[in-house]
Amino acid sequence: MKERVEKLIKAIHEITPKDRKIKIMNVCGSHEHTITHSGMRSLMPENVELVPGPGCPVCVCSESDIINAINLSKRDDTILVTYGDMLRVPTQIGSIRSNGRNYKMVSAPHEVLKIAKENSDKNVVFFSIGFETTTAPTAALIETGLPENVTILTSQKLTPEIMEILVKDSEVGVDAFVAPGHVSAIVGANAWKVFPEKYGIPTVVAGFEPENLLLAIFRILLQIKEGIAELENVYRGVVKPEGNRKAQELMYKYFEKTDVNWRGIGYIPESGLEFRKEYDHINAKKVFNLPEIEEKKVPGCICDRIVLGKAYPDECKLFGTACTPRDPKGPCMVSMEGACNIWYRFGTR
Ligand code: SF4
Repeated sequence: MKERVEKLIKAIHEITPKDRKIKIMNVCGSHEHTITHSGMRSLMPENVELVPGPGCPVCVCSESDIINAINLSKRDDTILVTYGDMLRVPTQIGSIRSNGRNYKMVSAPHEVLKIAKENSDKNVVFFSIGFETTTAPTAALIETGLPENVTILTSQKLTPEIMEILVKDSEVGVDAFVAPGHVSAIVGANAWKVFPEKYGIPTVVAGFEPENLLLAIFRILLQIKEGIAELENVYRGVVKPEGNRKAQELMYKYFEKTDVNWRGIGYIPESGLEFRKEYDHINAKKVFNLPEIEEKKVPGCICDRIVLGKAYPDECKLFGTACTPRDPKGPCMVSMEGACNIWYRFGTR
């Protein structure tokens, strides 16, 4: 393996056009983890930049949804259930852990059923956040039949839609995408076709091993050298062109595309999923008549710019001093998928 990796790095240096900067963006916390943990940035030609993009669902979860979750957990008749990372995300009124009351952590949606059974005299609200990889399991949970005391507070985002926003933003200036392996397993490699075909941006679906990521980077640079833009998939064992049709059908049975709020960024048209009207009875926003709460920026936090690939974590004045994984001031420092958290744990540039 070491030999193959060395060969790939050598080939990357040989084929890279040296006459301009090349910005390759990943949109997946696990890709950013592999890149930073393996020190891959330091192995690239000087003019090749590997930029983290919006790959962390916790980082972009709307502050309004989190505050509503905190307030739900304060009701005597309600238990809030969510993923561990969400408990620590800071907001203007604290986090679920610091300011909430009745909450429980789960690592997968089906665990909600046990909590609902054990607390049949309470409302159980599942705060379901994330990209396509968590929406599909949430839809599968609903398909099994929810107990009467369960409702769902959704904050689900769509990856291809935010990537299209990035492409149109000249400050970002993306030259190529490494497409996320996990999300692609659900939506299919073909979901990224729009980037080479409409915007002329080479896009390669990759897995999470350093060798596979290096291969994706090599394929991207080869395309750039040859002046072409294509969709390639170097994670074929897992990602099919059409994705997981069953998961897609389930997702769109219960949810539909809508404009959603990305933390620090604002509403992006058709960039998330919300319950279809016929499921109002399990939609916590409707059942509890939850308000839209105005977002307040954390002073000094540049998470919004990091998520959009416009800044690196170590450009934030709070990075590693006032803001650490033990005491996160912004959402990018909370989750193991957040760029600030990854850079803090594994070094910077
Ligand atoms: S280091 Fe902390 S405060 Fe700075 S951008 Fe990252 S999360 Fe925000």
